[in-house]
Amino acid sequence: MTKYKGIVNIGNTCYMNAVFQCLFTNSILLQSLLKTHRKILTEEFLNQANDYHSNKTTPLNISSLKRVIDRKTDLFRGLEQQDSLEFIEWFLDAVHNEIKTKINVTLTHNTPKTVGERKIYHSHLSWKKEYSKGHSSIVDLFHGQYQNRFSCMSCGSESYKFEPFVTLHLSLDEKDEPINVVSCIKEHLNKENLHGINCKKCKKDTRHQKQLTILRFPKFLIVSFKRYSTTDKIKTNVVLPLNIELGENRPHSYKLTSIINHHGDNLYSGHYTSILFKNEFMHSLNDESVNTSKIKGSPISSNAYIAFYSCV
Ligand SMILES: [Zn+2]
Repeated sequence: MTKYKGIVNIGNTCYMNAVFQCLFTNSILLQSLLKTHRKILTEEFLNQANDYHSNKTTPLNISSLKRVIDRKTDLFRGLEQQDSLEFIEWFLDAVHNEIKTKINVTLTHNTPKTVGERKIYHSHLSWKKEYSKGHSSIVDLFHGQYQNRFSCMSCGSESYKFEPFVTLHLSLDEKDEPINVVSCIKEHLNKENLHGINCKKCKKDTRHQKQLTILRFPKFLIVSFKRYSTTDKIKTNVVLPLNIELGENRPHSYKLTSIINHHGDNLYSGHYTSILFKNEFMHSLNDESVNTSKIKGSPISSNAYIAFYSCV
């Protein structure tokens, strides 16, 4: 059974503590990293995860992990407040770079004939191009793939682009009513009209429609809310259902595993906390303190900044 433990704030490190609470308790991530050929950051992360799950009841001190991070990058050096989202994206990428290995990907296929076959073939080809030189369990667990379809509004011809992603960066409008994360994701994937894009068939700039879809769903889905795009924080309440389904043709079921909240007016001040959800309990973690209570319905919060969903 997962134990939850506070993490000491060693000087504005709440942004890191909130992230590590979510990662130390991800047993699938820990197990997969144990099987890799590790370097300094991954090794120290696993050491601290081991301490986190030890029988010691005192809060965990991550000073040694912070020192390793400071050796790898100057982004988070010193003891200033930082952005949790920037930190988790950096961290997953840094671990990926430490453990990545070359892999041989062979695409066995018949010549793709239909539009659908060609699309699937090109999505695999793009995935192969992206990762054959460096693949890791971080890719397996956290990377998804977008399909970006551009269609010319004059001649109807279509072109596709495939891009990997780790986080869905979701826009938020200032609203009085709460908005559901699933609606935010739908909005994110909405059709968009673009002007002045060159069409190879029309041989001139035409109006295009862009449609983003998720082609590959990651095992662990990270979503973030753009609460700070303007000078003021967007305080719209977000509903984070405990279970969601995404994707149209083949729905993917996800369950909520954790939330990182940001309290305050901008990302470089204020305070970060996290909430972990396990079975019928939620564990609210605020640096050293741990508070466990029964889950009462879907969380709604005007401070929710990052949410983690796990594929079920
Ligand atoms: Zn055209």
